[in-house]
Amino acid sequence: MPYWVYLLLAGVVILVAMILGRAIAFRSRRYTVEPEHGIKIDVDRAAKRLSGAVQLPTITASDPEKAERAPFEQFIYYLEQSYPSAHAVLKREIVNNYSLLYRWKGREEGLKPVLFMAHSDVVPVEEGTEKDWHYPPFSGALAEGFVWGRGTMDIKNQIICILEAVEYLAAEGFTPARDFYLAFGHDEEVRGNEGAVKLSELLQSRGISFEYILDEGGAVTMGAMPGVNRPIASVGIAEKGYADIRITAEGEGGHSSMPPKHTAAGIIGRAVAELEKRQRPTRIGPYLKELLTYIGPEMGFGQRIILANLWLFGPLFKLVFKSSRTGNALLRTTTAVTILEGGSQPNVLPRKASAVINFRIAPGESVPEVLNHVRRVVGEKIKVETLVATNPSQVSPVDSSGFKAVERAVYATFPEAVAVPYIVMGGTDAIRYEPVCEQIYRFTPMLISIEDLDRMHGTNERISLENIERGIRFYIELLKR
Ligand SMILES: [Zn+2]
Repeated sequence: MPYWVYLLLAGVVILVAMILGRAIAFRSRRYTVEPEHGIKIDVDRAAKRLSGAVQLPTITASDPEKAERAPFEQFIYYLEQSYPSAHAVLKREIVNNYSLLYRWKGREEGLKPVLFMAHSDVVPVEEGTEKDWHYPPFSGALAEGFVWGRGTMDIKNQIICILEAVEYLAAEGFTPARDFYLAFGHDEEVRGNEGAVKLSELLQSRGISFEYILDEGGAVTMGAMPGVNRPIASVGIAEKGYADIRITAEGEGGHSSMPPKHTAAGIIGRAVAELEKRQRPTRIGPYLKELLTYIGPEMGFGQRIILANLWLFGPLFKLVFKSSRTGNALLRTTTAVTILEGGSQPNVLPRKASAVINFRIAPGESVPEVLNHVRRVVGEKIKVETLVATNPSQVSPVDSSGFKAVERAVYATFPEAVAVPYIVMGGTDAIRYEPVCEQIYRFTPMLISIEDLDRMHGTNERISLENIERGIRFYIELLKR
């Protein structure tokens, strides 16, 4: 055989060895944590307190003038009455009438404080769906091993679990090492301008900065990722940005018997088709790389070979991954045409036609980039305007004290799961706190099926007693360590 054949063979052998070597060295990041001993949770009592919280209809409307304020005031009072030991050790401030800021002073000086977040408001029940609820949405019914009602998953459960943990430890005479703050905004579901923004500004004005912040976010889910046979605890390290962009074309109007080649509606139709076709590029950004590093080792050997060798298989991976909706949303800024308007009569040319496109912006891109993209794709004749826009959040580190703390608490309470850094697709209040913290994580300690996620903001929202107990234990772990 000629010399070059040996050389080629040797090259192939080295390459294969390298690929296999990386796949073998791609080890699980999971570990075991001995949970705190001797913790006895009265879960029935906690469930009753959650039920009481759900019965107060703290609904936010997009028009703040229309929001009913009395339930928010009652909610603050309700928490005070329900958690006497917690309220004895916590210093409470009511911020902008309805939001809450608590501080639990730690026993050591010089340690940076930690902040736990949640929000007291809930989304309304969609009209016409009331009858589909097994138990009325604001009944807080205790039945079938669940607490039922709006807010049991998003996110009064988190407020209750945090306060249960503080109540438990305070009653035992425990004081945490460092300061813990709790911040509960009252308008997260309508973007947090009255709650989270004011809370964050107050903290900034006092020069407080946090070691880490934990807000609502990913949960522990089964079946979220094909090929992974254990529950995945998705700890949000970033959230996507958001933009509603309207495009408008104008026409001459008049009778449709002798129309121009393209009407305003036709121009918009074509622009919309182009926007769907020419999507933003797919990218294995830093947040996705982290996710794959944690999730990859939990998969079969075949998938491990791919994920451990993205330097080689990256393009192949992107091709396969983007065919699923979740994969696509993780890989890029998504484009969704949500509203089309134009024309009123079948035989009249529309004077105006428009569409609204909703973008969820991946970290690494920005609102101006998305706007430029839209302008480029639709051309100069179409008017482009931004209705609402927020840039994506920063990406919090995983090699950090905060991520480690959350990860430990996950393994103490969900020993079967694998903790994985993740990107939250919806917006949360947490983004408002970037000026006071570099380590912001988004996680809700409950184990649910993928199907049950639809109950959030949907019908038959509910939480199991097991999840209430896990939630309380999770926060006790974080407060005690
Ligand atoms: Zn929420």
